Amino acid sequence: MRSPARKGSRMMTQAEPVRTAVSTQRCRICSGAVRDLTVPMLSPLVICRVCRHVSWLDQPTPDELREYYTGVYTDGHAQRQLQEQNRSYYRTHLQELRTRVAFEKPALLDFGSSWPTLLEEAQASGHFSRCIGVEWDAESRRYGREIGLVMVSADELDTVLDRSVHIARFSHVLEHTIDPCRTLAEVVAKMAPGGIVYITQPSFPALRLDCKLERLQDAVYPEHLHYFTPGSVARMLARCGLALEEFAAHGRESDLAREYNGQIATAFVERKWRHLKELSPRHFNPLGLFPTFLGDNSHCYARVR
Ligand SMILES: [Zn+2]
Repeated sequence: MRSPARKGSRMMTQAEPVRTAVSTQRCRICSGAVRDLTVPMLSPLVICRVCRHVSWLDQPTPDELREYYTGVYTDGHAQRQLQEQNRSYYRTHLQELRTRVAFEKPALLDFGSSWPTLLEEAQASGHFSRCIGVEWDAESRRYGREIGLVMVSADELDTVLDRSVHIARFSHVLEHTIDPCRTLAEVVAKMAPGGIVYITQPSFPALRLDCKLERLQDAVYPEHLHYFTPGSVARMLARCGLALEEFAAHGRESDLAREYNGQIATAFVERKWRHLKELSPRHFNPLGLFPTFLGDNSHCYARVR
């Protein structure tokens, strides 16, 4: 379990006034009404009454975030090592992605590619027509271009042709953005109908509005700005014109069942999110599926209409 006291977490300081959520703020994903969510030692959070999405009451500005990711956060060397360790998993993962589309040689876009080891593997396989990385880190872009990949920053996404992408991958990236719906929509505009979006990111169950949490996992600011539930993922996808095909949470299911004991709005999920029941792939731990959706990370596929 990650402690909220670790370096980088968003702690309340004496200089920071205690605030309660303003009732005028709406959910950043579904525009539903929000209420305050109090977690000891953390800055004010809000939870959506409709999709149970959790986010910070105050978000950083785009300039602050850009400065963070082009300065403090980036460590190309460490990223390279981390990505290299995943090489064998990436080969299997790429095969899985290919089976999800009917295109003979799909074009693959990895948003937030980091050091582009996955794209390097995709290119070497010969099964993809184009391999596109979207990444803030200049060193990763430079290396990617050197080996023949298309590497752009998020600001340069308009250089990618509309309807030219068949598979888009978002691995632990949308929760880092100020406006995940906008980020996703900008990529979907580049995708061909019938294309597939794969999303994996920290997953959170639908919490009761009166829940009493002792801590919030992944409360690392300004890296994690959004805490997605299956409901908020579904709303985001719908807003972007995507049809949700599969959703499950996985990882530490039993530990999380103990940790969230009594805090999950199971009856609410059974009543309001019935449509997610048939989208639960059965090969996951049942705790990671409807209605509990307990697991550290999400597994999600959605189709471009
Ligand atoms: Zn919402």
